[in-house]
Amino acid sequence: MLNQGTGTWPHRRARQAPDAVALDFRGTTVTYRELDERVTRLAHALRARGIGPGDRVALLSANHPAYLEVLFAAGLLGAVFVPLNARLTTPEVEYCLADSGSAVLIHSAALADVADAAATAAGTARRVVLDGAPDDRAVGYEEIIATAPADRLDVPVTHDDPCFIMYTSGTTGRPKGVVLTHGNVVFAVMNPIVDLDFLSDEVALVAAPLFHTAALNFVALPTLLKGGTVIVEEGFEPGRILHLIETKRVTYSFGVPTMLDAMSTHPNWNRTDLSSIRRWIVAAAPVPPRTLQTYTARGVRLCQGYGLTETGPGALILTPKDAERKLGTAGAPHFFTDVRVVDPDGTEVAPGDRGEIQISGPNVMRRYWNRPDATAEAFTGDGWFRSGDVGVPDEDGFVTIVDRLKDMIISGGENIYPAEVEAAILDLPGVLGCAVFGVPDEKWGEVGRAAVTLADGATLTEDELFAFLGERLARYKIPKSLLVLDEIPRNATGKIRKDKLREQYAH
Ligand code: AMP
Repeated sequence: MLNQGTGTWPHRRARQAPDAVALDFRGTTVTYRELDERVTRLAHALRARGIGPGDRVALLSANHPAYLEVLFAAGLLGAVFVPLNARLTTPEVEYCLADSGSAVLIHSAALADVADAAATAAGTARRVVLDGAPDDRAVGYEEIIATAPADRLDVPVTHDDPCFIMYTSGTTGRPKGVVLTHGNVVFAVMNPIVDLDFLSDEVALVAAPLFHTAALNFVALPTLLKGGTVIVEEGFEPGRILHLIETKRVTYSFGVPTMLDAMSTHPNWNRTDLSSIRRWIVAAAPVPPRTLQTYTARGVRLCQGYGLTETGPGALILTPKDAERKLGTAGAPHFFTDVRVVDPDGTEVAPGDRGEIQISGPNVMRRYWNRPDATAEAFTGDGWFRSGDVGVPDEDGFVTIVDRLKDMIISGGENIYPAEVEAAILDLPGVLGCAVFGVPDEKWGEVGRAAVTLADGATLTEDELFAFLGERLARYKIPKSLLVLDEIPRNATGKIRKDKLREQYAH
């Protein structure tokens, strides 16, 4: 085959195990043979609509098998897949479509209004609707697949060609398109396969959004590469996830800490059989110790991972073998990836000291889409990707994630790392969620403010908070004010939107 890209994976798998189940969506299954055929037909259908090597194909939907089918079909054509966050507003979708120069937008019927308005404004010529009835401006996804030919395509694609452009979740600034090549994706997918001992009978559950690298490259694609089954869930409903774990004998999944907490506080938690789980990955945001303890107590190996869209995402991983010994750390570098923790002049810090986490390896993006300045800023002179996150290595090279550089509060010349303060506040009984952020202050430049969410019936006053923290933290780290909120603003991947908090509650 001339095509060395990820688009050929369904075909390669179908040659080996045609009747194994590849996808399970709303209870309907698709074998590898069927997946191979659907992907090939979809590629033909896209080609018939003018899509060729290098063209961008966008997708806007809640989780759906189309995320995988379109990725593979684009890969067969040498085209570039652009998955978009289904929670974006019309102007945000328009921005991503225009920035990526997408020629086609495939979308769910539920998002037709956003898709139509954004595609029209961005000049995206064609729309394809996944489910529901096609309208006068869009063709139907199933229809174009059913009516396309199924003969093999063999477009030359190399590991250096772009596979997808993914817009970073944008907790700060305008979203940037991260370009991952087919080679980046191969190594990003091999990292969990190697380090988490993937088997060919994995049953992986994808409830995290597929427009994010973690669900795509860390859960769905490694499972499909090995020949296992991917259960695609449209959204995250904790009771349903527990039901699926037990009935489908799920072996592997990924969740952000808030998802895991929602499962462990669900009424069915204690009576759900979790014995099929081989390991469960938690990442994307600081992981509260009590989440780790709750899962460990039920015999679930909760492995913390750390990474970014730019690194595909896996950079650090706590493998099952070290899960108990190094609980609370985000583990050590993945097999194919190097990680260093450095001070501002680029010297590696001593164990126990803080520094910026920097990453290098074949899974790391080479560039942002059309943003040479941002690309240049993202790398050190000697080629390491600057994560902007602060970590502390131990003597064995296991790194604890401390904070984001950008979130650091500088108060009277002292650096305050909000994650440390948040962890302390989360130990208060009745506190469910917490975010500490900086607000301007005449005397100190900046001071910390804590926002919390509380369990039903719980209360918390500023004085109680100050007294509690007074025994645990240096005085300068204690937030100067408290907000009790119904909800802490988060982005689609569960990360706290500190920018929103600062914007709304700065005064
Ligand atoms: P994204 O590009 O959306 O995957 O976001 C990457 C960011 O998520 C990183 O820069 C970190 O700030 C954060 N992150 C990822 N994993 C962890 C983790 N295990 N603990 C704390 N923060 C994390």
